[in-house]
Amino acid sequence: MSDLRDLYQDMIFDHNRHPRNFGPLASANHHADGVNPLCGDKLTVYLDIDSQGVIRDVHFQGSGCAISMASASLMTEAVKGKTIAEAEAMFEGFHALMTQDQANDAATGKLRVLSGVKAYPSRIKCATLAWHAMRAALHDGGKPVTTE
Ligand code: ZN
Repeated sequence: MSDLRDLYQDMIFDHNRHPRNFGPLASANHHADGVNPLCGDKLTVYLDIDSQGVIRDVHFQGSGCAISMASASLMTEAVKGKTIAEAEAMFEGFHALMTQDQANDAATGKLRVLSGVKAYPSRIKCATLAWHAMRAALHDGGKPVTTE
């Protein structure tokens, strides 16, 4: 893990140690599971989407490495209060941020702290897992998403 020290910026540390919106969500009407077998990250994303298509609340629970947990925590903060379409756009923006060399979309805001993960390709799936699960939950998933 020592080679990852550079990744552990303050915000990632903070979100891993004190994940936001962690735990089950009683009002959830959508959820999906995500698994990253390469790292052992497993999580479930819960969404409470109202009749207008607005994400009223979002929670996650699970276990995994610091990057997967911090990314999930940041994801919940990012999509809460957004519409389904906005959350989809944020997924696309984050995915581009993590997989393209020249992603400089200001809309990704503080999610950019995770862009350092790109230096460690095997860790990109840790960072994107929660986002894949969130997108699956928007469409009610069904089958668990896996990064493999
Ligand atoms: Zn991981």
